Order: sequence, then structure tokens, then C-alpha cells
Amino acid sequence: MSWFKRIKGGITTSTKEKKETPEGLWHKCPNCKNIVLTTDHEANNYVCAKCNYHERIGSEEYFAILFDEGKYFELNANIASADPLHFEDTKKYTERLAETQKKTGLKDAIRTAHGEVDGEDLVIACMDFKFIGGSMGAVVGEKIAKAIDYCLEKKVPFMIISKSGGARMMEAAYSLMQLAKTSAKLTLLAEAKIPYISILTDPTTGGVTASYAMLGDLNIGEPGALIGFAGPRVVKETIGKDLPKGFQTAEFVLEHGFLDFILDRREMKPKIAQVLKFFKN
Ligand SMILES: [Zn+2]
Repeated sequence: MSWFKRIKGGITTSTKEKKETPEGLWHKCPNCKNIVLTTDHEANNYVCAKCNYHERIGSEEYFAILFDEGKYFELNANIASADPLHFEDTKKYTERLAETQKKTGLKDAIRTAHGEVDGEDLVIACMDFKFIGGSMGAVVGEKIAKAIDYCLEKKVPFMIISKSGGARMMEAAYSLMQLAKTSAKLTLLAEAKIPYISILTDPTTGGVTASYAMLGDLNIGEPGALIGFAGPRVVKETIGKDLPKGFQTAEFVLEHGFLDFILDRREMKPKIAQVLKFFKN
């Protein structure tokens, strides 16, 4: 004889009456596991309301957050990478490019656009990490150079949102040339007294840190972002010592004088507008 007797049947919903939860309705924070509605997460600029974790987002999201009414005019949208070295690793570089373009709907790892931020003209170049790790090849360098030419001609301030693993190995030396190219172009912008703001987001490393990301009139980090040149494991193995706590986070880099300040993404638009107005006067 059992102790309990089931009076009512268990699951009474028949299979055909079951409702599916719509895909992507909920967002789970990868840091604190807090669950919120995707729409609420988006309204909070993809920042966790509970632990302040800044989720990685791309150019589409940044343009929507920063430009007035999400309106902008994209510059040189159709530049795509060639394969000058006929590079091949686990697959051909040309195949990797075609696949990534199809999967992401992007042409390369950066998009440049002109729009208004709280009524202030601004050209933003924003990197996309999902395109081969936001790696910097010839297209990234060329689009930055062309955007700077545009800023010089129209006398519009320039901002780069960096998010990159560094130089693109499939373009080897061509990638490294972009460090000199973008740095030289930014010098022209400085000579013309046109402001350049650099935003460093998670992650900003390698050749990008070694060139345009650290050359801003203002260098601004997002909270918790990994910012460095070589990765922490490489540094640890090279110096043979344990690294200090929080090594290469935006907060650590700020404390050591490489950033001007850290900016919460929810404050980004009003703060950038304020900075632009400040530079104008
Ligand atoms: Zn969280």
C-alpha cells in the first residue's frame, strides 16, 4: 500500500495544445545569470540591470543607441577584402570571407557612418567582433582612412568604437601596415583641429590598441572591458609572474593612466553629445 494516492492525473495538457516559448524572448546575463525580457535588455542598451555587465554588441546596435532616431548615412559600405596572399589555414581565406559575410550580413569588421548625436554631427566607425574576431585587415584600415578624409572635408568630429582581437593574420603584413596608415591619418585630423574620440570596448587588443584605439583626444573605456596588447596568458608566460587582480580590465587600465574615463553604455549618448559641444566651444 502506498502512502499517497494521486487523485488527479499529472500533466493533463495534450501535446497538440502545448504552447512553445517564442525563441529569443528572454535574455540570460552571462555574468550573473539574471533573466530579463529581451526587449527590456535592449531598452537598457544591452547592459545587465542587476550586475552592470556590458554585453558585446555590434555596429548595428551602437548606431541605433547613438544616432538620433537611429538615422545615419553609411560611408563606403561596399568595400570588401581581397586575398593578396592566397592565404589558407583550415580553409581558404576567400571561403572564410564569403561564409562570414553571408552569416553576419557584414562586408568586413568595421562600418563607418555619418549621423547626428543629440543634434551634433559625428562620423562613427564601429567595429564588429563577429566578423573574424573584429580583426583589423586592409579593409578596416581603408574604411578608417576614408572616413577621416570625409571628416577633413566636411569638418566633422570622428569617433571609433573599437572591439577587436588585433591584426588579421590572414592578411599578415598588410594588416600591420594599417597601424601606420590609420595613425598617420589621425595626425592629419589632429592638425586640422578636428576632435577624435576613441571608445574601447570588450575586447580591445593587439594592433588596434597599438594604433588608433589609444590615439584619441579622449580615450574612453566601457566598464569591465578587456583592454591590452598581448593577452594575459601570453604576458604571464613571458614575465613568469602571476598577474595582479583585474589585470587588463578597463578599470585597471584607467588606474594606470591609459584611459581618460570609463563610461557606462547607458550614459554614452548624452556624454558624447556633451563632449562634442564642449569641443565645439
Ligand atoms: Zn548580470
